[in-house]
Amino acid sequence: MQLRRIEGDLWEIPREGRMKVPGRVYSVGPPAPDDPALEQVKNVAHLPGILRFSLAMPDIHWGYGFPIGGVAAVDAEHGAVSPGGVGYDINCGVRVVTTALDAGDLRPKLHPLAAQLYRDIPTGVGASRAIPRLDDAELDEVLRDGARWAVRRGFAAAADDAERCEEGGRLAGADPDAVSDRARQRGSDQVGTLGSGNHFLEVDRVAEIYDEAAAEAFGLFPGRVAIQIHSGSRGLGYQVCDEALAALAPRLASFGEDYAALPDRQLACAPVDSPEGRRYLAAMQAAANFAWANRQVMTGLTVRAFLHALGISERDLGARLLYDVCHNVAKHEEHEVDGVRRRVLVHRKGATRAFGPGDARVPAPYRDVGQPVLIPGDMGRYSYVLAGTARAMRDTFGSSCHGAGRLLSRGEALRRARGRSIARELADRGIEILARGKKTLGEEMSDAYKDVAQVVAVMDGAGISRLVARLEPMAVIKG
Ligand code: 5GP
Ligand code: MN
Ligand code: MN
Repeated sequence: MQLRRIEGDLWEIPREGRMKVPGRVYSVGPPAPDDPALEQVKNVAHLPGILRFSLAMPDIHWGYGFPIGGVAAVDAEHGAVSPGGVGYDINCGVRVVTTALDAGDLRPKLHPLAAQLYRDIPTGVGASRAIPRLDDAELDEVLRDGARWAVRRGFAAAADDAERCEEGGRLAGADPDAVSDRARQRGSDQVGTLGSGNHFLEVDRVAEIYDEAAAEAFGLFPGRVAIQIHSGSRGLGYQVCDEALAALAPRLASFGEDYAALPDRQLACAPVDSPEGRRYLAAMQAAANFAWANRQVMTGLTVRAFLHALGISERDLGARLLYDVCHNVAKHEEHEVDGVRRRVLVHRKGATRAFGPGDARVPAPYRDVGQPVLIPGDMGRYSYVLAGTARAMRDTFGSSCHGAGRLLSRGEALRRARGRSIARELADRGIEILARGKKTLGEEMSDAYKDVAQVVAVMDGAGISRLVARLEPMAVIKG
């Protein structure tokens, strides 16, 4: 693999063979030329209609077809949409809720609070206890209205929560009828459930502020308690992705020569403007809305658990949704490409939108600062809040990293955790951890992830997003 340094931490994979564009990789240290994820960046550069670059963020690691940490924008009319460019967990994403609580005051009540959250927010592979299985008509509403459905049902920190989500917590174009019966069956009792493994609900302390004005606009103040929720579309989204891949893979050649010549069958895709492409998009958009409803319901459950466990009023809690981002999605967006404003379809697979200041698509309270960019790290160290930049609009279709990125496979992490008590190690550092799965703690220990501080430093250094604040874990609920 040939790599050329552009500047700082930005590297290029030059165009060769049938690549339509070069690759561009933001990297923590020089990229390892034999990293299979870089081969995937190169493969994605073959996608029909891809514009400018096949991009990779510094949390890049190997994924299905596309690397995780990959961004690819295609022409909205003549490009291809690829389910592997979105991922199995459609609209997996993160939200941060700020509170008026002082972390020091909370400390003595942390244990009962964590226990309450663990009881009230369903975790693991199972079903929801908070919301009984939805009938068809109500599930249709979830699939069409996303976060707004959940706010209507009374699950919210405040009435304007949906406006504080990317895209208003709802993708237009979602068609419930494009979601199969099997997918619907899998999802109908999973609204308001965390899921397993990497998904988490965390009680954090705002540990450090890097940009006071931006932090104030975001409602982040040092020493206060904030909450992170990371989850996606559960079994419903998985099923949508799985069925789309099964349907598209055997038909790839029928879409044309460029499709037949793709270097990896995992890049199975369809023209955006074909019956197959439109069907996937409509189902994917519905699954994205399901994920927003899911995170929104858990927000409501979380607020109630805080009130109950601490015996305080809503006013004392002062919970406010800061923002909600998706990090597995393909979205129609307008971007300036070579001086011309045009509609593109941006695949972000393990990447976060990071729109800059002044953009009308950023909620009014943040518009002067830039979009909040929410970057979880790991359960033992820290997470970051950043702000989007004009540079991101110019260089990455307004995209940034989505996390630390895995360093070790789950299996390798488990091997290295053998003989250790991860819960004890966390407890020694004052972090309360509750996990359903027996293997989760080993698979998810800090050592399994890159150091997110290094990852966000690359984004900050390249001007793709600016550091605003660091959050540190107090209590973590894992699936
Ligand atoms: P993914 O969606 O790729 O599974 O996860 C996104 C990111 O979340 C990971 O790259 C990792 O950095 C971060 N992460 C995973 N588990 C935890 C956790 O328990 N707490 C925090 N703060 N971050 C986590
Ligand atoms: Mn996920
Ligand atoms: Mn995720």
